[in-house]
Amino acid sequence: MPAAADKTKTYIPLSGVAKDGWSTDTEATATCFCGAVQLSFPTQAPGLVDSFVCNCHDCRKVTASMFASNFIIDNEYLTHVRGQDNLKSWGQDVTPASGNKMTNYFCNTCGTLMYRVSSGAANQSYLRIGTVDDFNLHETKLRPRTEQFIEGRVNWFHGVDGARHVEGSAYGKAKE
Ligand SMILES: [Zn+2]
Ligand SMILES: [Zn+2]
Repeated sequence: MPAAADKTKTYIPLSGVAKDGWSTDTEATATCFCGAVQLSFPTQAPGLVDSFVCNCHDCRKVTASMFASNFIIDNEYLTHVRGQDNLKSWGQDVTPASGNKMTNYFCNTCGTLMYRVSSGAANQSYLRIGTVDDFNLHETKLRPRTEQFIEGRVNWFHGVDGARHVEGSAYGKAKE
């Protein structure tokens, strides 16, 4: 994939049917699979708070995968480019170890999980690295810096290279 070789450049392959994702030196978009919902967000502090992989049991279920790859954006810096009224939300406070209610926001058309919000940190949204249109950002500015609930990893995944590895929550009671 020569187009992706230089990770400092924008690389937006066709992923889903929207074709209007973009990134600049300081901002980028995240788009759902069908294109109805698009967000834009900063790719640097202070708007970008952290990026992390989570191996908790809820993240397996809610992502239909084995772990979640997320990044935290301060809501003051989060823009709904389109489709905010096409988001469906559902949450629960039964299983998060923190006791906080985690609310999930899905595209009502295609089901892509766009972000989660914790009642313990309602000023932040946990976006999903996989929804970011510039794939090179997955490996550069949004590369997971933290990996939490490492005791919950599946045994064929050996963790995120170079990340801070934490048992349980890396963020205290504020996060999932
Ligand atoms: Zn969608
Ligand atoms: Zn989790």
